[in-house]
Amino acid sequence: MASILVTGCAGFIGSHLAERLLHDGHRVVGLDNFDPFYDRSRKQQNLAGCRAHPRFSFHEADLRHGLDALVDALPADPIDVVVHLAAKAGVGPSVQQPVAYLENNVLGTTHLLEWMRQREIQKLFFASSSSVYGNTREQPFREDMNLLSTCISPYAASKLSGEQLTYTYHHLHGLDVLNARFFTVYGPRQRPDLAIHKFVRLLQAGQPIPVFGDGTTARDYTFVLDTVDGISRGVDYLLEHTDVYETLNLGNNCPVPLLELIAAIGEAVGVEPQLTFQPMQAGDVDITYADISKAQRLLGYTPQTSLADGLREFVQWLNAQEMAAV
Ligand code: NAD
Repeated sequence: MASILVTGCAGFIGSHLAERLLHDGHRVVGLDNFDPFYDRSRKQQNLAGCRAHPRFSFHEADLRHGLDALVDALPADPIDVVVHLAAKAGVGPSVQQPVAYLENNVLGTTHLLEWMRQREIQKLFFASSSSVYGNTREQPFREDMNLLSTCISPYAASKLSGEQLTYTYHHLHGLDVLNARFFTVYGPRQRPDLAIHKFVRLLQAGQPIPVFGDGTTARDYTFVLDTVDGISRGVDYLLEHTDVYETLNLGNNCPVPLLELIAAIGEAVGVEPQLTFQPMQAGDVDITYADISKAQRLLGYTPQTSLADGLREFVQWLNAQEMAAV
């Protein structure tokens, strides 16, 4: 049994990960600031499955508030691995609020790294993003591609800066690091700002779906439990190895064009979608497409969930939420 600190534990991916790590037999220390980007009560609900578990503890703290705030908030017990998911996520809002994104994702990450150094915690799994590839022409995206002049949103820049920072701590202090670039994660508890969540709600309300661009943009949608499986494997890898610095794609290796996604959502909901075409949004890339051979080789990562199955699970979850709210 290892002790794992999960930052961003109350969020979409973090809450699923905490459940998986508890299931794997680990102790989980959760940290979150309940960022108001979306509803606090939704995040409290995300934690419901973990709260009662004897190997789970939760600590409300904000990474932006510095080292002392972390020292005060977190227990002094040993931590073996930190999984750093806390961030302001999302491309679009970062274009409007670049300072907030950089403060949170870069300064917040630096505070966490300093806290780890002070506590002599040697292992970090860092959540990066496919957005760092920008509009790289060569596909699928490989981890060793040149990422000079690729970040076309403050969010992407903040995530690539995070990767650079973890390298600095690896170089200076011997920190073992896995940086994982996630690719459009979806599934139960998905953030309400993300396309699949918004589109299902619009369809259920009988409203048209906005198509940004001509509908040919594509995303490498990854089901949340596949992403979480990759993180869990990454944690095991870190526990078993020393002198690690690796960057991995945790995607699905299967880009889906927007119009195909909308048709699949229509099938999952059982409604024929109506569309309205709108201009592309600032910061959005044309396609994301992960080469996952490195994660397969290093971690044995192999995503299992088809888009149709994943969408069905998401719609079932959303319907159950709505029933519970009535
Ligand atoms: P989320 O917003 O649901 O979860 C992030 C959590 O971090 C939230 O609960 C939030 O309250 C918390 N948080 C934010 N700032 C914090 C701070 N300063 N201190 C403490 N907690 C803070 O988002 P998610 O979709 O679960 O994303 C998790 C991670 O994965 C993020 O780093 C995100 O950038 C990355 N990522 C997600 C996707 C995706 O498609 N969901 C894709 C690529 C990368």
